[in-house]
Amino acid sequence: MTLKGKTALVTGSTSGIGLAYAKALAAQGVNLVINGFGDPAAIETERQGLEATSGGKAIYSGHDLTKVDQIEAMMKLAADTFGGVDILINNAGVQHVAPVEEFPLDKWDLILSLNLSAAFHTTRLAVPYMKSRKWGRIIQTASAHSLVASPFKSAYVTAKHGLAGFTKTVALELATFGVTANCISPGYVWTPLVENQIPDTMKARGLTREQVINDVLLDQQPTKQFVTPEQVAEIALFLCSDAASNITGANISVDGGWTAG
Ligand code: NAD
Repeated sequence: MTLKGKTALVTGSTSGIGLAYAKALAAQGVNLVINGFGDPAAIETERQGLEATSGGKAIYSGHDLTKVDQIEAMMKLAADTFGGVDILINNAGVQHVAPVEEFPLDKWDLILSLNLSAAFHTTRLAVPYMKSRKWGRIIQTASAHSLVASPFKSAYVTAKHGLAGFTKTVALELATFGVTANCISPGYVWTPLVENQIPDTMKARGLTREQVINDVLLDQQPTKQFVTPEQVAEIALFLCSDAASNITGANISVDGGWTAG
């Protein structure tokens, strides 16, 4: 089976891992809804590049996925343009690093709404079409933090553990409809999300930048290497294949051995 002509919606795909998913899917001829924030000209360049690669259509949604009405508008845009979404990748996410007693309330709410609740809303809105087509793929970018914790990341770890539980539930509900739901759980991938947490981690732990990279981030990964966005995207492509039709409710680690320890 080919993915050509199918439609994928990838949240948070203007950057990092999400953009890598979009590029990998475009290379298979998949139509795309990309989403996220950033410089409009840079996003438009990426969008055109995706169309050139896929030979299909790529549209951009700048909707803010912390807001339910905005998520509904994004899903309507996808349905109006393509009829529905065959492949849903919930990937948009943010991080904040702080001790629990100082954790800013607005950051707690932001992380829970974007990293967890947004996936519920996109999924509930995508599922009727997938069921009607008897085919669908729901893929979450979870994290090693959906399996284990690290200090100072209470909101993120809570949201990612929740996302893993949500995914298992959805997998069971959709098991007889040709729709799979799985998590991909990366360790540290060098993206703006990781880059941006270095200053706060330096502050929270009293470390230099080099110490954060080598003694905190790569310390977790036995391979001593960052995972690449492209490696994560390849797993998503596999999950979209026929070979993966019986993989559902799984949480696939790509973390250099982090959670083996
Ligand atoms: P990134 O910062 O490069 O990308 C995040 C994306 O989310 C961007 O496109 C951004 O514009 C978008 N976004 C942010 N707020 C949004 C909002 N309110 N509405 C819509 N879009 C919004 O980060 P990344 O590292 O590529 O992270 C992608 C996912 O991977 C996240 O869910 C993250 O938790 C997960 N993850 C990352 C790592 C890592 O080490 N980088 C590890 C494990 C899991």
